[in-house]
Amino acid sequence: MTATQTIAIRGAGIMGLTTAYCLKNALPEAKITIYDPKGFPADNASFMAGGMLAPYSEIEHMNMDWVKAGLESIKFWGELPLYTGFVKNGSLLVACAEDRYILARFKPHLPEEVQTTVATKDLEPALGSQFTSGLHLAEEAHLDPRKTMTSLSEWLEKKGVELSTAQGVTKEHDWTIDCRGMAANDKAIRGVKGETLLVRNPEFELSRPVRLMHPRYPLYIIPRGNGIFMIGATVIESGENENVSLRSSMELMSALYALHPSFGEAEIIDLKAGIRPSYEDNLPRIRINEDSKTISCNGLFRHGYLLAPVMAMCVASHIQGKQHEFMPLFDKGLKDESHDKRAA
Ligand SMILES: Cc1cc2nc3c(=O)[nH]c(=O)nc-3n(C[C@H](O)[C@H](O)[C@H](O)COP(=O)(O)OP(=O)(O)OC[C@H]3O[C@@H](n4cnc5c(N)ncnc54)[C@H](O)[C@@H]3O)c2cc1C
Repeated sequence: MTATQTIAIRGAGIMGLTTAYCLKNALPEAKITIYDPKGFPADNASFMAGGMLAPYSEIEHMNMDWVKAGLESIKFWGELPLYTGFVKNGSLLVACAEDRYILARFKPHLPEEVQTTVATKDLEPALGSQFTSGLHLAEEAHLDPRKTMTSLSEWLEKKGVELSTAQGVTKEHDWTIDCRGMAANDKAIRGVKGETLLVRNPEFELSRPVRLMHPRYPLYIIPRGNGIFMIGATVIESGENENVSLRSSMELMSALYALHPSFGEAEIIDLKAGIRPSYEDNLPRIRINEDSKTISCNGLFRHGYLLAPVMAMCVASHIQGKQHEFMPLFDKGLKDESHDKRAA
C-alpha cells in the first residue's frame, strides 16, 4: 500500500470515529473521508451511551479473551490526548439485602485477583445503608460519550479528515470501512433497545459508576460531574423505534429513588433511547472482503466504547498489511453465517 491511499469510513458512531482516529495516526498521509448524514457528532447509539468501560462486569457474557481486549481499549482511552471525561476509579457492584445472592453468584465468575469485597461506605459514603458491602472492580473505568464524540470529531477535522454528511460514498476509495451499525446491509444484525435517564441532583455524590445487581432491573448509575447522573440502561429485544416507554421510565426513576431519597427532587435533563446493533451472540465482528476492499465492523451491542478502539486498531493494522494480535477474536472469516446472509 502506498502512503497516499484513500479511505472512506461510513458511519460516525464510536466505531467509525475510532477507526478514523487510528487510521489517521497510522497513515498520516492517507486521504480519509468519514460519511454520516446525521453530522458530527451524530445523534446515534454511541452518543447516548453510558460510556461504561466495564469488561469484568460483563464477564458472564464474554470470556477472558474479550476481557483482555476490553482492558486494551481502557488503555487506549486513558492514553488518548483528547478530552473524553475518562476516569479510572473502578466500578462498584452493590445489591440490597434481599438481592445479595446475585452478587454472591456473580463473584466466582471473576478472576480471583479482581474479587475485591469492600465496605460500601468506605468507597461511596453517599450510598444508603441498605448497601453494606459490594464488589470493587478497580480496573474498570468510564467516560462521557458526548464529550468523547465531540473531541474525536474536532480532532479529525483539524487533522484534515473530510467530514461529509452525504448519504452515500461520493467518490472512489482504495478501502471502504462500513461502520453504519443498524443501517448496514447486514441481515444478521438485530436491534436491542436501551433507554437512559439523565438527571441533576446536587444533593448526591459518587466517585465511580455503581451497578445495581437486581433480578429485574440490572442498572448502573454513572456520575457525570456537577451533580449530573446518568442511569441506564434497559435491554429490550427490539429495533423498531427509539421511543422511551412509560414502564421503562418508571423503572429507571424508581431505581434512582431507591438508591437515595434525594433523587425525589432531582431535575430530569434527558430521557432517551438508542438501538444497539447486535449479532446473535452479542459479540462484534470485523469482516474483510479483499476483492471489494471493504471492511465491515459491526455488532458492538453493549460494548461500543469497550471494544471499538481495539477493533479500530485491528482495521488500521490490516490496511497497513499487518495482523493485530486481537484480530482473530473479531475476524470469523468470510464463511461465517451472517456474512453469507449479508452477501445474499
Ligand atoms: C442506552 C445505551 C447505553 C449504552 N452504554 C454503553 C456503555 O456504557 N459502554 C459501552 O461500551 N457501550 C454502550 N452502549 C453500546 C454502544 O453505544 C454501541 O455498541 C455503539 O454505539 C455502536 O456503535 P456504532 O458506531 O457501531 O453504531 P452507531 O453509534 O449506531 O453509529 C452508526 C452511524 O452510522 C450512521 N449511518 C447510517 N446510515 C449511514 C449512511 N448511509 N452513510 C453513513 N453513515 C450512516 C448513523 O447515522 C450513525 O451515526 C450503549 C448503548 C445504548 C443504546
